[in-house]
Amino acid sequence: MSTAARVRTSLRPPGADMQQTGPCMLWCGRTAAALHWLGPLMLPQGTAALLVCAECAERLARAGEQQLAERDRDAAIPR
Ligand SMILES: [Zn+2]
Repeated sequence: MSTAARVRTSLRPPGADMQQTGPCMLWCGRTAAALHWLGPLMLPQGTAALLVCAECAERLARAGEQQLAERDRDAAIPR
């Protein structure tokens, strides 16, 4: 399954100009990555675009899937 199908990404935020390559905002430290928009990043100063590379988007998807699996496993335990 492609990353785009695993996490909801877009090549650009709706209604905004965006560079297609640039620094990934997550873990890898790439400075010239092909960027995917994951969604709004809410900050006290305003809303920024969360722009990440495909590898970091995949890592984030795995972390989210693990969290959901743990939640489902906890919910299945009889009390
Ligand atoms: Zn990255």
